[in-house]
Amino acid sequence: MAQVVVKFGGSNLKSPADVERSARVAAAYKTPLVVVVSAFSSVTDTLIRGIDEAIGSEKAPDTICSNLKEIHETALKLHIESETERNSVRAVLDERLDQLKKLLMGIHYIGAVPDFTRDQIISTGERLSAPIVAAVLRKVGLPAHEVLPEIMGLLTDGSFGNAAADLAVCAERLPSTLSPDSTPVVPGFYGVTKTGNIAIFGRGGSDYTAAVIARSIRASSLDLWKDVDGFLSGDPRIIPNSKTIPYVSYEEAAELSYFGAKVLHPRTVEPLELDHIPIRVMNVEQFDGTIKPYTIVGPAKHDSASIKSVAATEDVGIVRLEGPGVGSRPGILARATTGLDAAGINISSVITSQTSINLLFRKRDLARALAVLRSESVPSVIAVDGLEDIAIIAAVGEGLRHTPGLASQVFGALASAQVNVLLTQAGASPVAMYIIVRKEDTAKALRAIHDTIHRG
Ligand code: ASP
Ligand code: MG
Repeated sequence: MAQVVVKFGGSNLKSPADVERSARVAAAYKTPLVVVVSAFSSVTDTLIRGIDEAIGSEKAPDTICSNLKEIHETALKLHIESETERNSVRAVLDERLDQLKKLLMGIHYIGAVPDFTRDQIISTGERLSAPIVAAVLRKVGLPAHEVLPEIMGLLTDGSFGNAAADLAVCAERLPSTLSPDSTPVVPGFYGVTKTGNIAIFGRGGSDYTAAVIARSIRASSLDLWKDVDGFLSGDPRIIPNSKTIPYVSYEEAAELSYFGAKVLHPRTVEPLELDHIPIRVMNVEQFDGTIKPYTIVGPAKHDSASIKSVAATEDVGIVRLEGPGVGSRPGILARATTGLDAAGINISSVITSQTSINLLFRKRDLARALAVLRSESVPSVIAVDGLEDIAIIAAVGEGLRHTPGLASQVFGALASAQVNVLLTQAGASPVAMYIIVRKEDTAKALRAIHDTIHRG
């Protein structure tokens, strides 16, 4: 029987008591599982902050490690009655906390943190939660044991901070360490480089770990346990009448994940698309003993004529390169992007016209991008301006691919709500259109689009 990969995130592991609920979920499956876990809630944030604190203060490493010890000790005491079991898990945790303290002391004394050390520190949270989750799974009768990515040989491309897995190598190596006769528990969020260092997959990266494993062992599904009712038609804080979307395609899920819908790590679908392995999004808060997906993510069905969801992000800034000839002279974009590439600045998107090139960035990169582009003399460009306080709205749905009139419905809705559209892009992704508006118009724009497409 094919295994199911089950992932429990930080939101399932908020309080120490939540660990037991996740174990009950795992026990309800009655099929062979691989379990992937995130760090306990807020632990990754503590570690990220801890890096700066440790650089600044000699006492910080000790304080950070004592705090983390307390969080995990509480979970141990609450769930593991057997003294022998508790001691053996505690020995593993102590060793890892000791290692963490050494790393934090190390960065304190050198006054800086190399990339590979940063990733090793930040990924510690998963190596603290996994042994506890494994012990609690044993308690509910599953033959669970921890398997570390470094033991599996979960190879990455070595880009620290935001690595991608080498799927071909993983497919060769992973199955032999993830036997269906046991319940392997894998700390998510990271893999290893060719030289054996740890490289993380970016925030929320345990979803991606779980997807890489699901693909490598040809799992029957990837089940993500979250604390929301799957993918929704809009953010319920802004759109109270938003609804669960029962089915989204891989492409729709990827588009939505780049925006406000924080259901998936944006790259989770990548490893699964080719083999059509479905993702099932569950809500641990609603667990009633049955395995009930809220949203299934799978291949496009081409049967939807609507926009399924609207999402937005305010984490965006634009640099606009203007000049009458930018659309007709060769090499302009290359010149502009070479400088950005050299400065290690990622361009999120590009929207061009005959007289302007709009480069979109994450907010934190905007000032640097502007400085780089102002310092380059790009031919034909006569003005370089930055645009802040904006938001990108994404209207997402397979329907956009083949239903005439959907885009005009969206613009009509925005016009009626008196939202001024600053910039748009449609067609680059067949399942999403992007609309850039002023930040203060975000909620109004989201509601207007949602109302039009989900009438009735
Ligand atoms: N613990 C990591 C984070 O908070 C990875 C994850 O939760 O998936 O980003
Ligand atoms: Mg998390």
